[in-house]
Amino acid sequence: MDFELPEDVLAFEREVVAFLEANRSDDVMDRNPEHLSQTVETPAKRAFMRKLAERGWLGMSWPKQYGGQERSGIYDFVLTEALSRFGAPQPGKGVGIVGKTIIRHGNEELKAYFLPRIIRGEIEFAIGYSEPQAGSDAASMQLKATRDDVRGGYVLDGQKIWTTSAHFADWYWVGARTSEHKHKGITLFLVPMNHPGFQIHPTWTIGDERSNEVFFNSVFVPDSHVVGKVGEGWTYICEALDLERFAMLPVGPVEMKLKGLIEYVSTATLDGEPLAQDPVVRQTIAKLAADLEVARKLQRKVISEALKNRVPTIEAAMYKMWQSQLGQRIANYALELIGPDAALKPEAPEAPAGGRYERSYRYTVVDTIGGGTSEIQRNIIAGRGLGLPKCF
Ligand SMILES: Cc1cc2nc3c(=O)[nH]c(=O)nc-3n(C[C@H](O)[C@H](O)[C@H](O)COP(=O)(O)OP(=O)(O)OC[C@H]3O[C@@H](n4cnc5c(N)ncnc54)[C@H](O)[C@@H]3O)c2cc1C
Repeated sequence: MDFELPEDVLAFEREVVAFLEANRSDDVMDRNPEHLSQTVETPAKRAFMRKLAERGWLGMSWPKQYGGQERSGIYDFVLTEALSRFGAPQPGKGVGIVGKTIIRHGNEELKAYFLPRIIRGEIEFAIGYSEPQAGSDAASMQLKATRDDVRGGYVLDGQKIWTTSAHFADWYWVGARTSEHKHKGITLFLVPMNHPGFQIHPTWTIGDERSNEVFFNSVFVPDSHVVGKVGEGWTYICEALDLERFAMLPVGPVEMKLKGLIEYVSTATLDGEPLAQDPVVRQTIAKLAADLEVARKLQRKVISEALKNRVPTIEAAMYKMWQSQLGQRIANYALELIGPDAALKPEAPEAPAGGRYERSYRYTVVDTIGGGTSEIQRNIIAGRGLGLPKCF
């Protein structure tokens, strides 16, 4: 069993790292790259995304007929990881979720309009599944899509919550109810985010990131902007969630959290004694390093299954749960180790470890929720992975 990447992939990784070194910028990259930069909100970040596109690094695994290179998905993985270690924004939803679903299920009009724009890095998406009564159980969504035969389309009314990029995205990838059947009653739509029927209200998370509530008031969507078949949206959403759980969750931010903690421990003292010589600290850091190695191996397992064209549902659930909870364990331990001063923010000059763990502590809570909570991942493992019957 070989855990090393092949030489051509390593060469690509070196190329990406050299590009990122040459394009270092505080406008685009987070100085403390222990948080995943998922949004491409500012003009500088959008310009950066176009630079990635110019190098042919967006949609590398897409079919050639849609502008891709039919490269192995391992290249996407290497790119995502390198970007995350530099605190640079991720290609994100367009290439991974929307693009791949349109390629598999979209009509020719959607393909012709969206795929070239995605691959050129020109277009951003918001993803709308969650609603006030439909979070973990997203299939309970109630956003109503009413048939309008006169205009040839659907009229959407209702509400979404937690739509992260709604305040700057160009298009909304949104699930709505076209019939009462729980799973076969959901249809996916693409709607321009500047539609006058939207009202967008901010929701600030504990991790200082903006998400949104979106209210729909008679939002008309033509038939051409239905994704795939009416009533098949839930199938497409599930496929895309499996993709999201690994394609959009690099291990880099967790590596960076631990790297920062090791650097702190290497130089800090407690009561005049070097922390690095404290046996309990050494034991704990070593355990976290072993846990990080487990995360890397779980991630490799997900990728290896995906490369065999299997949908790695169970592996992705294990990785998502382990990766996000490990990030939380590292942040929690940093606070315990550093003590009350760990609550100082990066702006405070005397903040230990550059104040990075104050935000990490808060942000890692969010990591364990977005994309499906840890409890839901464990339900997937228990039910679909181990075959245990549902308990309720
Ligand atoms: C920062 C952030 C960004 C997000 N971005 C988006 C986005 O862009 N688009 C989008 O559509 N959604 C987004 N979400 C929504 C996210 O997917 C949901 O928050 C998540 O699925 C949980 O749903 P909920 O918040 O309604 O919690 P609930 O489903 O109400 O869960 C509450 C608690 O109950 C537990 N629980 C629920 N059901 C079970 C069960 N069957 N077994 C055991 N425990 C259970 C949960 O684990 C959790 O601890 C985002 C969320 C966050 C926090």
